[in-house]
Amino acid sequence: CALPISQKKAAITILCTTQMIAEPVRLLAPPGVEVDHLMGSGVDPHLYKPTPEDLRKILRADLVLYHGLHLEGRMAEMLSQMNVDAPGGKAVAICSKIPQESLLVDESGATDPHLWLDVQLWKQVCDQLKLTLITHGGFNTEDISARHQSLSQSLDSLDKDVSQLLNQIPKDRRILVTAHDAFAYFGQRYGFEVHGIQGISTESEPSLLRVNQLVKLLSDHKIPAIFVESTVPERNVRALIEGCKRLGHELKVGGKLYSDAPGPEESGAGSWSKMVLHNAKTIVEGLR
Ligand code: ZN
Repeated sequence: CALPISQKKAAITILCTTQMIAEPVRLLAPPGVEVDHLMGSGVDPHLYKPTPEDLRKILRADLVLYHGLHLEGRMAEMLSQMNVDAPGGKAVAICSKIPQESLLVDESGATDPHLWLDVQLWKQVCDQLKLTLITHGGFNTEDISARHQSLSQSLDSLDKDVSQLLNQIPKDRRILVTAHDAFAYFGQRYGFEVHGIQGISTESEPSLLRVNQLVKLLSDHKIPAIFVESTVPERNVRALIEGCKRLGHELKVGGKLYSDAPGPEESGAGSWSKMVLHNAKTIVEGLR
């Protein structure tokens, strides 16, 4: 590291791109380790561009943890050049450590990065976080493992709560239409047919054909609600409501889901685990 000694901090700092990663890292890292994240509430990671202050944080950090799988679309290249396996590197793409057979791929062949919406899959990512902190953070193995065990238990309990809530929705109503394709892992885990109006990145615009297909699906199955997302504009969802109205099916907006970033504290979805629970409650209210 080329920084002068006076600018270096005494505490070890771990920088995470998102709060989804920072939450478990804060629970795993020993006291005294500084854990920070770059993207705040309501920030779309697919489109996020790092600020000069972010770049300073990246340079100062001892370890940088990011998702990979092209979630951080506009930071991916810079982060991959800092890979921990290269000399002087300190960045780890944590989701790239999940076996390919556990990952979903969309029609275009792109790997779906939204792993955190399936609690069991995110638990596997937390296993990788544990290994990374031991291997690249230089922390005590037993200490991290003990913290990891209690984290795993709380994730199992969160997963159970989410499943129990969603089981209140009748099977024939388990069609989830959302603003972008973030919920495929969620659907696979909790038994929903899932459709996004946009693709797995928010960078693409939906086609008229796509909108018309979804209007037909929602009307045919009399699905009562679709959902908006905090990080995606609402206009695409409006097109479906208008379309269903023309077919005589009244469709409502079933509330706001937090797909790619937690919300502000007062939203009740102010962290990864809170947003997962909030989403389950919102989906139950909309589709039950
Ligand atoms: Zn997304």
